[in-house]
Amino acid sequence: MKKVVKFGGSSLASAEQFEKAGRIIRKEAERRYIIPSAPGKRYKDDTKVTDMLYSCYRQAVRENYMEEDTEDAEASGEQSFSALLGAIKERYDRIIEGLGLSLSLEDEFKKIRENFYRKAGRDYAASRGEYLNGLIMAAYLKCEFIDAADVIFFDEEGNFDAGKTDETLGKRLEGIERAVIPGFYGSAPDGRIVTFSRGGSDITGSIVAKAVHADLYENWTDVSGFLVTDPHVVKNPKVIDVITYRELRELSYMGATVLHEDAIFPVRGEGIPINIRNTNSPESKGTLIVEATCQKPRFIITGVAGKKDFASITVEKAMMNSEVGFCKRVLEVFEENNISIEHMPSGIDTMTIFVHQDEFQEKEQKVIAGIHRAVAPDFLELESDLALIAVVGRGMKATRGTSGRIFSALAHANVNVKMIDQGSSELNIIIGVRNHDFEAAVQAIYDIFVKTQV
Ligand code: ASP
Repeated sequence: MKKVVKFGGSSLASAEQFEKAGRIIRKEAERRYIIPSAPGKRYKDDTKVTDMLYSCYRQAVRENYMEEDTEDAEASGEQSFSALLGAIKERYDRIIEGLGLSLSLEDEFKKIRENFYRKAGRDYAASRGEYLNGLIMAAYLKCEFIDAADVIFFDEEGNFDAGKTDETLGKRLEGIERAVIPGFYGSAPDGRIVTFSRGGSDITGSIVAKAVHADLYENWTDVSGFLVTDPHVVKNPKVIDVITYRELRELSYMGATVLHEDAIFPVRGEGIPINIRNTNSPESKGTLIVEATCQKPRFIITGVAGKKDFASITVEKAMMNSEVGFCKRVLEVFEENNISIEHMPSGIDTMTIFVHQDEFQEKEQKVIAGIHRAVAPDFLELESDLALIAVVGRGMKATRGTSGRIFSALAHANVNVKMIDQGSSELNIIIGVRNHDFEAAVQAIYDIFVKTQV
């Protein structure tokens, strides 16, 4: 049995957190490949090391460019490059000291300082967060450290090179009992460091899990799994025990975040489950993300998520469904204006297009004119300040009356439903409501399916 374990920033933000992670790793010999993030926040208003590195690099480039000396920067009230780098070093030194390690990062910081000055790049700068944390983790666990730059690859354009990575990584890790591979970055063919997007250590973990054909990818964070809904909207929502990749995609797309969206793909292709766990509460089982399961969900719905601030454009024309190419011509108008479409329910003589309000607003008149030119509609209506809510659940397919219950719950909560769309997979129902009804709607749906537990 092989497990890949990834620890998020808050799980490695201090020596104390490192110790918790260490206990988790040592508890099971199967936890063989460890992917650390950079130190995250230790308390609410703390700054993540990755953000400190970005600011520090910005300052290094500025000082370098202006040939300003550090005293000038300090005099202008800004923190100098040296001060910013010193604060980062301090974060790591505190962890090392707290763990009682004899490791020194002096030389590493000397190299980083030089590389910042010779403008090694923003990605290089950010990547040092995980790199240094990886060095500490390897020293702490007394195991091998493998620089992600040697095993995770990107192409010239900065796109992840799955083929090369999988082959190299698989070979490199063969026969190694335990190793630390820092998350978030890799290298391009010219040796330049490239990072994934923010939160990308999740992706590294998934890539490693695929390369070693792991039995499980454990993703340790600071919540006890994926929640049925947003805790900012519903107080103390329940944890989802098991969720399928498809359900997770639907919920993440709608804004629910615990895991980086792209982290699903490498393991999904291999059928490797992901287990979201809580470093601060290792006894809870967390959420298991799987390809498919016979396990009945605890509730009919798996999750509810949503986003605000959409605009809708309804196009009405008699007999539009018999006009060949009607939808295509409407959609081309959005394409020409470079607006992505979020959702598109349709009726007999109407089609409605949901778009992000901020993206649409500045181009609205061009879009209206374009639609008139393209299809000469009988009527065109715009609405704004709309929210979309996705009710997701593999259990809905086998259950009658789910939509009925949703809509009676919304009616009781005095929420006017603007739009309903059930995906053909019967995995989700999308509901459009006014922005100001969003919270009440999510709460009502949660209550009817989860609180009443029917
Ligand atoms: N440290 C990086 C970030 O803050 C990557 C990660 O933590 O996954 O985005």
